[in-house]
Amino acid sequence: MTLKLDINPIKIWLPKLDNPLLISGPCSLETEKQALDTARLLAKDKRVFVYRGGVWKPRTRPGMFEGVGSVGLKWLQLVKQETGFPVGTEVANAQHTEEALKAGLDVIWIGARSTASPFVVQEIADVVKGSNAVVMVKNPVNPDVQLWMGAIERVYQAGIKNIVAIHRGFTPFRETKYRNYPNWQTVIELRRLMPNLPIICDPSHIAGKREYLFEISQKAFDMGLEGLMIESHIDPSCALSDAAQQLTPADLAKLLDRLIIRHESANNPEFENQLDVLRNRIDAIDVELLETLSSRMEIVKEIGRYKKENNVTALQINRWAQLMDDRVNLGKKLDLNDTFVKILFQLIHEDSVRMQTEIMDEG
Ligand code: PEP
Ligand code: MN
Repeated sequence: MTLKLDINPIKIWLPKLDNPLLISGPCSLETEKQALDTARLLAKDKRVFVYRGGVWKPRTRPGMFEGVGSVGLKWLQLVKQETGFPVGTEVANAQHTEEALKAGLDVIWIGARSTASPFVVQEIADVVKGSNAVVMVKNPVNPDVQLWMGAIERVYQAGIKNIVAIHRGFTPFRETKYRNYPNWQTVIELRRLMPNLPIICDPSHIAGKREYLFEISQKAFDMGLEGLMIESHIDPSCALSDAAQQLTPADLAKLLDRLIIRHESANNPEFENQLDVLRNRIDAIDVELLETLSSRMEIVKEIGRYKKENNVTALQINRWAQLMDDRVNLGKKLDLNDTFVKILFQLIHEDSVRMQTEIMDEG
């Protein structure tokens, strides 16, 4: 079910925004100097709107750098005073949240590990109640759109209207080139279910490595996301956390120069007309697709009845294997992605078998 929550567009709490929302700053704040030096360079680039700095760092394994703690909040205050940036950090429990609000932070975000825990999210939501903080909610570590939505609803029910969702990728179940694999399908689903919720992307935690930041950031814009959170550090090689994925402010500027920003519509009647023409063709083809599928299923049922009369099983594994090979090969010739064709025919076949077994089980 679609939830039309009364969530503010980003421009309401950030009126000077005239581009996608760009949040940047170190993964972890390490020293006052590192916090300020990074912020000063970022402030020169007018495309950065919010400064981030991790203070309490959730680490997967114990014994790694866990953040400087509350003292970092003072450095965020200094960054804000000097550069005028709204500042934000990650909170992972009620105490962090109280301290962050008391320190006057503009933005707090709930990290991926915390979003996965409804008790933690509720604890944070109870503290932000009545404040006008901006609360960002990263996706949970597993691609569960309901869990992500649940966290957003908890914050919303605490009266917070300045909410932003952040896509930071999901824990891979096998080795992938990215640290956390992006799942745009889950993002599209969130957009469908919560249409007025701003969604941005955190390419840093998806990538894990600097070299992949551009492709992920461009993809986020291609998908119509409203902004990016990219980690930057005055000297990434010395960073105490996430060294391989952080950019110097200068390299961040270079990355931004290359990115193409896309808009939901082109404000150009000729473009809109042409788009309509193409969409009408797609609509007509979709009707044909469904009619063709329906004819296919009629034959599947007929075969089912025939198999039943002859006491033959619904599934013939050799025929299925041969069919799949043939379809994937034909698909390749037609320039269709083989994984796509495979999944499509798995679905078709699954439902064909379901229909035939139903026929067989009928009295
Ligand atoms: C972070 O933003 O520094 C962070 C730890 O993010 P995540 O919750 O996405 O891992
Ligand atoms: Mn990080």
